[in-house]
Amino acid sequence: MFDHPSYDHHEGVHFFEDADSGLRAIIAVHSTARGPAAGGCRMWQYETGEQALRDALRLSQGMSFKNAMAGLPLGGGKAVIWGNSKTDKSPKLFEAFGRAIESLNGAYYTAEDVGVDTDDMAVVATQTKYVAGLDTGEAASGDPSPVTALGVYRGIKSCAKRVFGTDDLSGRTIAVQGVGSVGGYLCDHLAKEGARLYVCDIDEEELAKVCARTGATRIKTDEIYDVDAEIFSPNALGAVINRATLPRLKAKIIAGGANNQLASPDMDSAVREAGILYAPDYVINGGGIINVAAEISGAYSRNWVIGKLNVLIDTLGEVLDDALQNNLPTNRVAERIARERISAAKNG
Ligand code: NAD
Repeated sequence: MFDHPSYDHHEGVHFFEDADSGLRAIIAVHSTARGPAAGGCRMWQYETGEQALRDALRLSQGMSFKNAMAGLPLGGGKAVIWGNSKTDKSPKLFEAFGRAIESLNGAYYTAEDVGVDTDDMAVVATQTKYVAGLDTGEAASGDPSPVTALGVYRGIKSCAKRVFGTDDLSGRTIAVQGVGSVGGYLCDHLAKEGARLYVCDIDEEELAKVCARTGATRIKTDEIYDVDAEIFSPNALGAVINRATLPRLKAKIIAGGANNQLASPDMDSAVREAGILYAPDYVINGGGIINVAAEISGAYSRNWVIGKLNVLIDTLGEVLDDALQNNLPTNRVAERIARERISAAKNG
């Protein structure tokens, strides 16, 4: 475990199994230096336990960086439930997951991620108070996806300004991979501004809905990398920017909501050398955790959320400018700032 390539000094990695409900979950706590670790819970049918562990570790480290970049008093953690979110869910399973979180005594707060929704979080909340993204309750913040999508939309505009000299997206061609919660709301913003959208998803129903309301052109999932689009926006799963996909992209900008978009750390240089401006995922997609943080603070305020989102978009702009001026990969600049902020909290 300690030699795992994605371990990166995690403070704790916790494995839970509940035979009654079939729960198998990993909760990874990367850092609590800035506050309790916070990050969503993903339910996914991994092929192996090693894949589940790797995902938990990478996502949890990403949350440390994301919370630091969003200026939140939170550390980084993430949970993964190993299972099929369409067929394996039950109240018993999420109750067992809630008990697992409670056993960590507040070191980790959970919320929604891929495959997990507000109904599931309501069940978790029957067993623990360390849960956010709820629909009911005094400070309830609900689904974080609309705020994530708003941040991604504004982040895309920020990139466009630097690459095209204007943040106006009308007439811009944008390929959107994944039109679930984040991708769907994002398409609404982009369509409203008059962007020309090319979209794909493995979920035919979601795809049909988004195409119907935005006028987007549907693309086969394996052909999305070949679309002649100026902007590529990944909003499905991670590792989609890799040695095989990068040469196929014609876009000048990669900016989307998905976590862990770069398949390996060296892809940050490869993307830069390909002349593409990459918006670091854990910066551009921080809107959702800002919304969740408002709930964790105990007093939800939409004004506070929008204020934090404004600062985050400014921070993204600073990362992009620093990288462009100094010929550095954007991800490297963002990671340096995030690690500095975490170290400052640890030492302060
Ligand atoms: P979601 O499950 O609602 O949507 C994901 C979509 O991607 C689904 O419609 C799914 O069918 C589709 N998909 C899966 N594999 C695909 C493939 N190979 N090609 C095309 N489409 C595919 O999840 P979401 O909440 O929208 O999250 C999307 C991404 O954004 C994830 O990486 C998540 O970790 C990240 N993210 C989400 C939030 C949030 O607020 N929900 C916040 C930050 C980051």
